[in-house]
Amino acid sequence: MKIIGLTGGIGSGKSTFCALMAERGIETVDTDQIAREVVAPGTMGLQQVLAEFGQAMQNSDGSLNRAALREDIFTNPADEVPRKKLEGILHPLIQAETQRQIWAYQQDATYQAPYLLVAIPLLVEGILKTGQKPSYLDEIWVLDCDEATQIARARQRDGVTQQQIEAIIASQATRAQRRTWADWVIHNDADLTNLKQQINARLTNP
Ligand code: ATP
Repeated sequence: MKIIGLTGGIGSGKSTFCALMAERGIETVDTDQIAREVVAPGTMGLQQVLAEFGQAMQNSDGSLNRAALREDIFTNPADEVPRKKLEGILHPLIQAETQRQIWAYQQDATYQAPYLLVAIPLLVEGILKTGQKPSYLDEIWVLDCDEATQIARARQRDGVTQQQIEAIIASQATRAQRRTWADWVIHNDADLTNLKQQINARLTNP
């Protein structure tokens, strides 16, 4: 079983691709979901964040007040210390849980698929910082589509403005940077039938 790092910019179709792969028996370890779980109420992660950033970062229902935390971190964008502190708490927890979930699939004799996807939206941004691809990944697959398509789809899905999406795209790696690291570029400019055809071709010849 190959471990695949799946990435792509905002609205490029990662979730859609993973859902189509799930229909074919190929599952996904979702690092966005893990990032939420490691700071869920009652976790050590939440305790550590509150100890570092203050109890005001907790909502009355016990959950993390993400808006307050974001504000704290981005009040002075030039000051990287708070962001680095937060990453210092979260990254090891996310990494450990990701590895645990991959390991569970590797131990599961009923999981017979040729691939396990690990969805990591900012995979290439991380690689650009460290200069290397994470060693636990066998391949990197990149969802790629035209920026106009990305913007139109993300706007339709989230109801956000063109400027908001453009700002996010500008803060992410470029399409060219992602493609440089790709073992497979999945072209998602056309319709779902076309995306399914690319998946069929790959799974016929894994
Ligand atoms: P994000 O990183 O923002 O979470 P994502 O990369 O997971 O986004 P999706 O949520 O899969 O992207 O896709 C964005 C939107 O575009 C969704 O509404 C999805 O239904 C739609 N979409 C994705 N691929 C296609 C396609 N080939 N044809 C039509 N619509 C598509």
